[in-house]
Amino acid sequence: MWGHADSIAAVARVSGQAAEAAGARTPLGRRFGKKAGVAMLKLGLETEEDLLRHYPRRYVERGAFTPLDAGRPGESATYVAEVVQLSKRFSRDRKMQIISVTISDGRASLDLTFFARQSYLAQHIERQLAVGTVAMFAGTLKQGYQGRLELTHPEYEPLESWDDEETAIREAAKPVPIYPAGAGIQSWQLRTSIRTLLDPLTEDDVVDPVPAEVVRRRGLLTELEALRAIHAPDDAAAWKRARQRLRYDEAFVLQAALARRRADIAATDARPRPARSGGLVDAFDAQLPFTLTDGQRAVAEEISADLAAGSPMQRLLQGEVGSGKTVVALRAMLQVVDAGGQAALLAPTEVLAQQHARTITRLLGPLGEAGMLGGAAEGTRVTLLTGSLPAAARKKALLEAASGEAGIVIGTHALLGEQVSFADLGLVVVDEQHRFGVEQRDALRAKGAVMPHQLFMTATPIPRSVAMTFFGDVEVSTLREVPAGRSPIATHVVPAGNPRWMERVWAKIAEEVDGGGRAYVVAPRISSSQEEEGADVYDLFAEPGERKRPPGTPEMVDGGPDGTANVEDVAAWLRRNSGLPEGAIGVMHGRLSTEEKDAAMAAFASGEVPVLVTTTVIEVGVDVPEATVMVVLDADRFGLSQLHQLRGRVGRGSKPGTCLVVTWAEPGSGSHERLSVLADTLDGFALAEADLEQRREGDILGAAQSGRSSSLRLLRVIADADLIAQAREDARAVVAEDPTLEQHPELLGAITQLVDPDHEEFLDRA
Ligand code: ADP
Ligand code: MG
Repeated sequence: MWGHADSIAAVARVSGQAAEAAGARTPLGRRFGKKAGVAMLKLGLETEEDLLRHYPRRYVERGAFTPLDAGRPGESATYVAEVVQLSKRFSRDRKMQIISVTISDGRASLDLTFFARQSYLAQHIERQLAVGTVAMFAGTLKQGYQGRLELTHPEYEPLESWDDEETAIREAAKPVPIYPAGAGIQSWQLRTSIRTLLDPLTEDDVVDPVPAEVVRRRGLLTELEALRAIHAPDDAAAWKRARQRLRYDEAFVLQAALARRRADIAATDARPRPARSGGLVDAFDAQLPFTLTDGQRAVAEEISADLAAGSPMQRLLQGEVGSGKTVVALRAMLQVVDAGGQAALLAPTEVLAQQHARTITRLLGPLGEAGMLGGAAEGTRVTLLTGSLPAAARKKALLEAASGEAGIVIGTHALLGEQVSFADLGLVVVDEQHRFGVEQRDALRAKGAVMPHQLFMTATPIPRSVAMTFFGDVEVSTLREVPAGRSPIATHVVPAGNPRWMERVWAKIAEEVDGGGRAYVVAPRISSSQEEEGADVYDLFAEPGERKRPPGTPEMVDGGPDGTANVEDVAAWLRRNSGLPEGAIGVMHGRLSTEEKDAAMAAFASGEVPVLVTTTVIEVGVDVPEATVMVVLDADRFGLSQLHQLRGRVGRGSKPGTCLVVTWAEPGSGSHERLSVLADTLDGFALAEADLEQRREGDILGAAQSGRSSSLRLLRVIADADLIAQAREDARAVVAEDPTLEQHPELLGAITQLVDPDHEEFLDRA
């Protein structure tokens, strides 16, 4: 069942004649005719199994029987009537046959129209609806030729196929499944084909990935019952139950795959890096200017125990911006250095790599300056290795990594370059893990002679069920509290179209700057001609909202082709109109060179340039305690989680923060509502869930960018959290008892299909 998604991708590449040829050869083509086979292939349906797994998109409840003359256009209606006339003609371009049928209940009559591109279908309809046939017809009425009501392509079922009227009425009351259809094939044709396959099946014909014992214990339908009920339900309760079972299947196979990966990793060797007393960790703790929070302490202990184990740690550390992840990660790195190894820290951007290097160097003090004047004798060395280093510095950094002189190596994906080698890589810390592709991670993993321990950090809160689905093979630690002394942040939604409000926004910035504060002004774009900054990298949760911009848009936020605010124009406007000295306004975005970015950040941090107009480059982890105001222009362009991240940039010092989200979205619109949610809560988990609920599952899976459809067809990651939890419990138990799945060949088969090379990526990324 999991192979299906891939076949869609494969099929999408097949086109025209190739599909024509392939269609005839598929089992479906042989079974239902070449034309139908081609049409099904275009839907990604290649095998009978694919077709059985082509689930209805929705169900139409047939109404009560309607008298033939009682319907109105737009209404759905169900009739029992006799065919009194049938005629067939070709369309003008002769590509299609049009079958006109008139039905009558003896008092009134109604016209039906069918279109058939394939002559065998035309023949099929003709045969089934021969004059004199009494049948049940259901569809949506519309105004046809000369204002007469008609039904186009109604569902129909000849009555003679039923034994008696009672059966007929009962049948007519059943929900009609509506299938995702495509060019050359209609929902009802799919329905008929699927029924043809389904009817003769017995329990033995259907592969059930879920062990019988689990099916019994959870009181699930059998796989065949579920297939029957999803395709031919007696009533709504039946298809709902079937859908639940099939969702469980998806969750179970996925969880079993994750459980096996987990078991595989547990069986892989890693060098234990146990804590050493009197080492760097102890020295570091002793010099920390604060005490760790309880949460930090608990997580630190979990990590410390993981590192001491003989199998590689795979742990995800999640926590709000500012919850103190970096400190925890640094202690882990020091433990590895204490045990004679090296640690690598990967950041998603150079700016963040540099910042990590600065922060860590500062936190370590003399402990990070081994071999340097004033460095602690027992210390280590922190090396920054990024793509933009000048040749000489790069050579030095490479040498320090290879010789083991550098205990901690910090960088971007440049660290994964072929030339980089480590003396003894014991730990890889990945910051903002969802921004790293699996190949990159694997490349780094391969750097150690044995597999290094791995710690993934994310500031994007990951709801429980998402963690179960995408990180089911890793352990998850969460830092829930933010260290005491953090200042509150107030958030307000500001209507961009209201000049008085906007004036107050700019006045607020000037006020804060006068008081020694700093302000960020975030715009979605770099310049009026520019695409959004790093959309592919940065907008995991972003979702452009509907927007309505009145004419006469103020210049300051009038940007690109669609009027989206951009850094260059906003900065220019502020320099002219904010009343602040021109030099007080800096810019920052992804097109600046590393030196320029560095200089801009440094000038902002020092207060020399107290207003920074920027793209989301500053989103993650940038730490300027004096920053008190965050203005986000065209805020509806960003996802809630991303806005929450942005807001986390202010209120990091002793003064409270203010976040002003500016939008053109109309009050009452979905976008405006979303922003109000942001204003109402500081709970990053609640925001992440709100974000996810609005996204299609495919987007969550990151499948959207690859054009491949999601492997999860029915399962909903948020709404089905409880079901996913059950499936995980069951799957882990099955894998624990039968790690090789020898006793469960059906499950193994389903997993293999899921984890084929294309899918490995899906499992590995979030
Ligand atoms: P994160 O990486 O989760 O965003 P950091 O580790 O960068 O958070 O911590 C944010 C700020 O809080 C840093 O300046 C850090 O030194 C400080 N900090 C971390 N832990 C504590 C603590 N327990 N008490 C006080 N301040 C802390
Ligand atoms: Mg951090």
